[in-house]
Parts: sequence; C-alpha cells; structure tokens
Amino acid sequence: MTDLPLLTWALVLAALVVGILAGHFGWGKRWPGSLGKLHPDYLTGLDYLVTEQPDRALDMFLKLMDANADTIETHFALGSLYRRRGEVERAIRIHQNLLARAALAPEHREQALLALAQDYLRAGLLDRAEGLFQQVSEVPRLRASALDALRLVYEQQRDWQQAFGAFRQLERIKSAPLQNIAAHYLCELAALAIERGDTQGARRLLRDARAEAAPFPRAALLRAQIAEHDRQPELAVRLLRRALAEAPELLQEELPHLLELVEPRARDALLAQMAAQAESRGAGELKRLVFAAIAAGLVGAEPLRGAIEKIFSQDAALQAVLRAGPAPYERAAQEIGALLAHAEKYRCNECGFSGRIFYWHCPACHSWDSFEAYAQVKLR
Ligand SMILES: [Zn+2]
Repeated sequence: MTDLPLLTWALVLAALVVGILAGHFGWGKRWPGSLGKLHPDYLTGLDYLVTEQPDRALDMFLKLMDANADTIETHFALGSLYRRRGEVERAIRIHQNLLARAALAPEHREQALLALAQDYLRAGLLDRAEGLFQQVSEVPRLRASALDALRLVYEQQRDWQQAFGAFRQLERIKSAPLQNIAAHYLCELAALAIERGDTQGARRLLRDARAEAAPFPRAALLRAQIAEHDRQPELAVRLLRRALAEAPELLQEELPHLLELVEPRARDALLAQMAAQAESRGAGELKRLVFAAIAAGLVGAEPLRGAIEKIFSQDAALQAVLRAGPAPYERAAQEIGALLAHAEKYRCNECGFSGRIFYWHCPACHSWDSFEAYAQVKLR
C-alpha cells in the first residue's frame, strides 16, 4: 500500500524504457547501431518525464506503444506501477487504452479487464470493480485472482455473506486464503445476528467459525457476549478468559469487562491466577498484564503488587519514571495510567496504522489479525 521508494521507481522506469525500446525495435533483433534512430515520440515522452509532466509523458508513451503490438506487456507493467503508486487515473487510462484496441487478443483482453477491475478497486469504485471481477471470474485461467479480489470488494462493502461465498468458491478451486478469514466472516455474521437478537443463529455461526479455525479467540469473545446476555456470568467469564489466553493483545480492552463479570470478593483470586499464568508464560506476557491492569486503574490491587514491582525493576524506561516516596511503584503506575488513557495502544503490523481501539480487520490496509498491542506508552 505504500508508495514505491524513489530508487525502485527509477529502476522500474529504466526497465520500462528498455521494454519500450525492445518492443519498438523488436525482441531478438540486433540492437540498433545508434540511439539516434529512436522514435522522436519516445524522446519527447522522456523529456516530459524529466520535466515532470507525467500526463503528457503518458500520452506520448501510449501513442508510441499503440504503434507496436509487442509492447502489451509493457502496458501492463506500467499500469500496475501507476496503480501501486496510487496514480489510479493513469492506470485506468492505460488499461482502457488497451481495451480500445480492436486487434487485442482474447487473453490480453481478459487480462486488461482484470487489471482495470483492480484499478477500480484501488480507486474505491466498488460497484464497477465488482461487475468486472465477476465477468473475469468466468475465465478459468483468471478465476482465482478474480474471486480473491471479489472477496476484498465484498469485505469493503461489509457484505460478509457474499465474502464468505467467494471464499467457498476459492476453496473449491484450492485457492482459498487462510481459514481464519472464513472464521472472521462467520464472526461478522454472528455479530450481526446478535445485534438482531437472533442468539440461536449467532451460536450456530460461531460453532461454524470454530470449525473453520481453532483456537479462534474472536468466536469465544462473541460467545461470551451471548452468555452475558443470557445471564450466565460464569460461562461468560470462562469464555472471556479463554479468549484472553488465546489473544493476550486483547487484555487492555477486555480486562475491565472481565472484572465486571466477577463478584467483587472473587476479583483478587482471579487477578492472582492471571498473574501466575502470565508469569509462567514469560516477561512479555506479564508486562502486558501489568499495563492492562494499570490502564484499568488497578494500581493498588494487592495480587498484582509483586508483578508490577517485578516489571518496573526489570525495565530501564520504567525505572526512569520512579521517584522517591513512600509508595513509588504506585505513584509511577498512576502516572503511567494517566498517560495510557490518551495513548495509542494498538498498531497494525502490516501498515503501521495505530489507534486506541483494537480491530480484527485493519481499517487502513484491510489485513485480518494484524493488530497488536505495542509500546503502550511513550515515557517522558
Ligand atoms: Zn493495516
């Protein structure tokens, strides 16, 4: 999703120029004796590129490439580059220009339709993209690419039933992405069923989700929501704890919720159990629990005192926050708690998008399961 680094762009452009030259003079023919024989349009196009007039450069290159049927691959390469750089309108022009050729071979026409659909998807023109991807999905050679892209269109339209349908079709041709994506679609549908009050339907969808991928913490979390609604707090606690054990990055979000479900007198025992469990899993896990507890205002909780002191004594940055006083850990923890309240707690490890709430599906790059809790707070 990021722009190509300048050097890569320059290298690719150089490769394209070679491609255009090769197309212009014919592959396998002898290289011309002098570059002085270059087509004048090519030199004009290059001049426009150098003087940063990309649209005029594109006009020239398209005109040049039109004259030669060997340059179709160069067309595709240039179109794909423009799309990746986010210059979607130029990519669309290139692919439409290809499609306008009367003499285009059927396999090139199909390829150009697929590329144009990808341009529309990138431009957010979802209806147009959907129509073209459906058309291209009838071509056996391109079916997997088209269905996978169609799945992404439905994701962006939040049409989870259709996305799940595309996933199943991909499964049939053995091109399905990871099973956890199917489980997420089923969880999205379950969440909608819960909203409608159809808890029976939601439970069935969650069972299906667990059949697709296990362990699957999101399904446990939603099942806990249903248990809570059905006034089964013990079941809700069991399910929530299972979800947190499977996805510890949810601790900051769900710890206060978990504690609300437990009788006040049982809270200390629960926290002690969680601290022992986190400690057995390593320092990273214990630190996560400590930060979640601090963010939840549990600085003074007796069962966590040992864990908080341990984490503070092991971390140089946290040590720097400590000040002299009768209860230094508590005071430092309170300061950190105040900072945490305003900090961005989660980050997508695919695109770097960060925010204060957790997403299963990154709103920026549309990756699944890419969010992680990160360096939770910048220490002053
Ligand atoms: Zn992302």
